[in-house]
Amino acid sequence: MNLETLKQKYFFMPDATRGAVRYLTTKQLKETGTEAIVTNTLHLLIHPGPDVIQELGGIKKMMGWDGIVFTDSGGFQVFSLIHSKKWKGKVHENGATFKSPREGNVYELTPESSIDIQIKIGSDVLVCLDDCRKTDLNRYEAEQSVERTIKWAKRCKDHFEKEYGGTAKTGKLLTCVVQGANFPDLREKCAKALVEIGFDGYNFGGFVVDSEGRLVEDEMSAVIENVPKDTIRYAMGVGKPEDILKAAKIGFNLFDTVLVTRNARHGTLYTSEGELRMGNSEMALDKRPVDSNCNCECCSNYTRAYIHHMMKNGEATALTLATIHNLTHYQSLISKLNS
Ligand SMILES: [Zn+2]
Repeated sequence: MNLETLKQKYFFMPDATRGAVRYLTTKQLKETGTEAIVTNTLHLLIHPGPDVIQELGGIKKMMGWDGIVFTDSGGFQVFSLIHSKKWKGKVHENGATFKSPREGNVYELTPESSIDIQIKIGSDVLVCLDDCRKTDLNRYEAEQSVERTIKWAKRCKDHFEKEYGGTAKTGKLLTCVVQGANFPDLREKCAKALVEIGFDGYNFGGFVVDSEGRLVEDEMSAVIENVPKDTIRYAMGVGKPEDILKAAKIGFNLFDTVLVTRNARHGTLYTSEGELRMGNSEMALDKRPVDSNCNCECCSNYTRAYIHHMMKNGEATALTLATIHNLTHYQSLISKLNS
């Protein structure tokens, strides 16, 4: 698919964190209407490692996936995990150094190494390393995060162009992340400085909902109003169906959330009439499909009662069918936005 369509259409990208959408084969994933997925640089760095992925021909070849692959920079995971007890590490002017609890290896993630890793993974759309921090930043901390994010984005772009010949040579796109916490003026400042450097896309970074779970619409508007329209405008981590609609109205065109697949595995299914909890006892004799308006493999062949029964018994097939349904539901929401 032509990557330029990422700047024009709406897309929902399931998280294939480690190069797989849990419980789905690549064929099943395609059948949900999914055209783009997002993988995680940090998790793939730790296992199997960028050199192994490159040796195996890249993540697309490994997955047998001919759609679009995004990578994130690893910034969000580094900075959110790094302060946990298991992940010992520190963030510094040059990036982040941390020790993985998996094998105990020490890694250094810099703007340049983040680009190198994403190139080796073989994704189509790269993201610059950003200084992502906790939710409740004070203004001083948010200013520091913005300054560092701009500096690192510049280093990422320089490295992508000097080392790899940029988009012209690789055919890949480079996007950046706009920080600024919950200060709209800092979001604006960050967006303007990044536009000055020039990227294919501007991703809304940090936290997309406030402490009460409300979408941070003012901060999102401050970004959209300051970036060109013909770019990728990715609302990272958005979200619930109603939040996708709100973010699309603000001007974002790309979305991802772990909720859709995670909720499926926990038995919460999205339907045209609201959410269903498949574990509830009222499902036990319900002969209707999960959603009579859905044509997915789950809704075309099985009853709510059967999915309920399988979930109660921990059958992996139920998790596959639930994931297929939720993703199909999200993709049909997106195709309505595109029509
Ligand atoms: Zn369905």
